[in-house]
Amino acid sequence: MEIRTVGVVGAGQMGNGIAHVFAVAGYEVLLNDISAEALERAVALIDRNLERQVSRGKITAEVKDAAMARISTTTRLADLGKADLIVESATERETVKQAIFEDLLPHLQPHTILTSNTSSISITRLASRTDRPERFMGFHFMNPVPVMQLVELIRGIATDEATYKTLLGVVEKLGKTAASSEDFPAFIVNRILMPMINEAVYTLYEGVGNVRSIDESMKLGANHPMGPLELADFIGLDTCLAIMNVLHDGLADTKYRPCPLLTKYVEAGWLGRKTGRGFYDYRGDEPVPTR
Ligand code: NAD
Repeated sequence: MEIRTVGVVGAGQMGNGIAHVFAVAGYEVLLNDISAEALERAVALIDRNLERQVSRGKITAEVKDAAMARISTTTRLADLGKADLIVESATERETVKQAIFEDLLPHLQPHTILTSNTSSISITRLASRTDRPERFMGFHFMNPVPVMQLVELIRGIATDEATYKTLLGVVEKLGKTAASSEDFPAFIVNRILMPMINEAVYTLYEGVGNVRSIDESMKLGANHPMGPLELADFIGLDTCLAIMNVLHDGLADTKYRPCPLLTKYVEAGWLGRKTGRGFYDYRGDEPVPTR
């Protein structure tokens, strides 16, 4: 099936990157958010990020202009009805995602493929509440989307082969690499990554090390490009906590218990880079550890 128009729901950290890469690859993009301000911010950010790619010689100015011209924004979900493919990338909360698909359904064309960029929520369960579980998949991009090579493709129990093949073709057209994962909590990357981040927060909570020593240890001792706490701030602490809760609930194993200190940061609204403060304070020139 040919995909020409893509509807992206949610214009946050991930949604703007997803709109960016689809537009560069030649797709028409309809970007939706409940917040008009989030849409404005996303378009400005896409423009800036494309400009950076131009200045680094990764794309030409013509490619940038054409990509910007392919992106339109709307706060009305119904406007996404003409899309051949929907990529839902709103807040990591199951009720939010369910409500989005429910509101979208009456406006969709019969052939439209539905996907979610969820980091952890069951694709089978999200799909089962739609009229097209066979044309529903997990389409999990990595952050930052224009830079990261991997896309996880997650088949729900009912996903058909044609849908899977179509999305494999889309990933190829985006110039990225697909990895297939079965539909179990948090899939592959976050099943491994999040318990490590959670353990880093326990290491901080129990006083084994402070923020800087934990991040330095993993960068210099395990050759990780970012420390786990720095990475958690980058991902968003609310998203990290949501994923740990999905692992804990879905696999019923106490080893996935979210660290109480992670919960405390989220309750404080210290969600990482996106709110200016998390394990580091980003409000000055240099990030300063908060513990
Ligand atoms: P974010 O908080 O930056 O953005 C979420 C956006 O969704 C916000 O702009 C919000 O206004 C919008 N939104 C909320 N409810 C909506 C609705 N009903 N309709 C339309 N828009 C709505 O979050 P994010 O980091 O971009 O994460 C989005 C999704 O991507 C989540 O499912 C997350 O698990 C997944 N994800 C995140 C990362 C990461 O590193 N942050 C990586 C891979 C996948």
